[in-house]
Amino acid sequence: MMRLNINGALLALLWGISLTAIAEQPFNDRGAVYNPMEFVRTIPTGEGAYTLEFRNEEESYFTNFLVTSEGVIAFDPLSDSAAWVYADLIEKYAPGQPLLAIVYSHLHTDHIAGARVLRHRFGQDVPIIAHERVLKFFQRHQVPFIDLPTKTVSDQGAVFTFGDRTIRLHYLGDAHTASILVPEVPELRMAYVCDFASNNVVGWTDLPGIDIDEMLSMQRKTLQLDVDTVSFCHGQPDSLKAVQGQLDYFESVFKASQKAYQDGLSEDQAAERIDLPQYRHFSNYDDWFSGNVRAMYRWAKTKHQD
Ligand SMILES: [Zn+2]
Repeated sequence: MMRLNINGALLALLWGISLTAIAEQPFNDRGAVYNPMEFVRTIPTGEGAYTLEFRNEEESYFTNFLVTSEGVIAFDPLSDSAAWVYADLIEKYAPGQPLLAIVYSHLHTDHIAGARVLRHRFGQDVPIIAHERVLKFFQRHQVPFIDLPTKTVSDQGAVFTFGDRTIRLHYLGDAHTASILVPEVPELRMAYVCDFASNNVVGWTDLPGIDIDEMLSMQRKTLQLDVDTVSFCHGQPDSLKAVQGQLDYFESVFKASQKAYQDGLSEDQAAERIDLPQYRHFSNYDDWFSGNVRAMYRWAKTKHQD
């Protein structure tokens, strides 16, 4: 009898716990555990503008939201685990305000998962704005935990107005997935740059699939924007100087790698020997710099053969 009672109590307790867990975690699939991130900090970047830093096992991720006179605009939701915190922070800085839109930077899932969590918290009908090739991509490659864009933007870009804020979405080139939109908020003299330039971070591994000339061209076009603040997907918010820093970095790696190729070094030798001490303070230098050299070496070789 006693034993039964204990089991009954235990069962009730477990049942209670699992009910709570279900109430808080409506998504129970691969997306719920995809790219887990921990919240690091909130960085105010302008009037009603907040940059959020998260971290996964490998690197830091940043995203942004804007509080306008009519509600909130959220950029990349990152992942389910990040988006739960993201939603809490929107409620903290814009209590009771509606979420007017979610804007995806590009089609890589490590930046745009988690929209379903924001919609769960703020409304299933919150529009998702993205480049038209993001929609096309996910219509072809179905990823069940990625919510599809509901408003798409072509290479011509687009301008949206939300309350007292304007969001100009620029398409600057197709170096990285051919789907990156660069949002500019003229009232805040601010832009958001994702993955084709970061702040004091070396490029990811050996820059897979990246057209390097196009990437540098996108960085040069970003330098033409009339903004004071640039927030990045990777690296803390800064000014256009940080974009110039990325351009200088990649040009330096290219120059050194091209020279190695012209001097008859192999790719392995180039990766082993080239070091640019002035960039050792960049995040992930120890892990990925030699990969960046390999990418630039191959690029120099391809250009030479053209
Ligand atoms: Zn990306």
